[in-house]
Amino acid sequence: MSSMSSSFRKVGILGGGQLGTFFTIAAKRLGLQVSAWDNHPEAPARLWADRFSNADFNDEQACENFIEENEAISFEWENIPVALLKKIEAKRPVRPGSEVLCLLQNRILEKGFLVLHQFPVSPYRQILEQVDLRDAANELGFPLICKTATAGYDGLGQFTLTKTADIALWTATPKRCPQGWILEKYVPFQKELSVVVARNEQGQVIHYPVTENIHEAGILRSCQVPANIDPMLSLKAVDLSKKIVSALKGVGVFCIEFFLLEDGTLLVNEIAPRPHNSGHYSLDACDFSQYELQVRVLCGLPLLSPTLLNPAIMINILGSEITALRQPEYFHQLLSIPGAKVYDYRKETIKKRRKMGHVTLIAKDSAALCSRANALRAILDRAALE
Ligand code: AMP
Repeated sequence: MSSMSSSFRKVGILGGGQLGTFFTIAAKRLGLQVSAWDNHPEAPARLWADRFSNADFNDEQACENFIEENEAISFEWENIPVALLKKIEAKRPVRPGSEVLCLLQNRILEKGFLVLHQFPVSPYRQILEQVDLRDAANELGFPLICKTATAGYDGLGQFTLTKTADIALWTATPKRCPQGWILEKYVPFQKELSVVVARNEQGQVIHYPVTENIHEAGILRSCQVPANIDPMLSLKAVDLSKKIVSALKGVGVFCIEFFLLEDGTLLVNEIAPRPHNSGHYSLDACDFSQYELQVRVLCGLPLLSPTLLNPAIMINILGSEITALRQPEYFHQLLSIPGAKVYDYRKETIKKRRKMGHVTLIAKDSAALCSRANALRAILDRAALE
């Protein structure tokens, strides 16, 4: 640990959504000053950061100010412009750096990296021109998922193709993407898993337990930790995750998402160069959260292995569900569930399927956890009827 890096007192976060907010809170709890920059004026980090800017990410003066205000910078979103990161990096440490961001914000480059290092992925083809889709689809065989190479998240920019006729549908209305697309074989997975790992400058890598994730329409709905899988598989997922961040030489917090097949095969789906929604549980169920780890790695502070104190289930509150849950009746019901940790991100604009908050349930044993999760789902079901 260098004495210079351990003395950072002012840190910046690019992106001020819920992940940037939790970073901000973790840093402030440690006594650091935080500047958050998000081009969206209602980004939730505005409510917590010492300074908040909603300037455009191309604003030169805003960039200068951000550099001036902060001693080290991280980000919460992989779609931050690489050019901005490079500008900041010329003057301040940025973790992870622009090279890693550049690789991981483009699915074609990301898959190329995984294949180069012989990590297991679903068969895929890169599609640079629309006309290439038909041949690629015939080579891979249906069913398939076509994803934009860049700017896709929460299922955005994805199109499922189950038969030849779907090619014409996609070609008529392709999700626009100048960088092209990636066509993946649809994976008939048994479960989806993820592992949050952190790596520091010295190459030390630590990990959180494997999480089991349920997605609905491409959006994460709930997570359970520890994952209900064979312990040998957990070890394998952790081992792969550590090897991936080491191969990346990434410095920061990362999340590796996996598909688990019926035969026990693990395929890497994607790598997030930041804390992840599936790691929210670490705020309440661990001795320190993935956000505190992000601060620690950024500032060159000690990197300890986190401990899971309780099993946990995290459920995302999506779109208009938050409206009902903000009403006193439901709010009281939620807070009556023992072990429920309720988060409302205070986003004002409610959009269909937008992540508006989450609830983490913790309990000493899985039976209690299960009954608390059932109570929460019943409240969400009633709220949905409002
Ligand atoms: P992604 O943005 O790539 O993480 O995709 C979001 C979600 O879509 C994943 O978590 C899966 O539930 C689903 N998905 C993505 N790619 C595939 C695939 N090749 N096969 C099956 N499901 C997929």
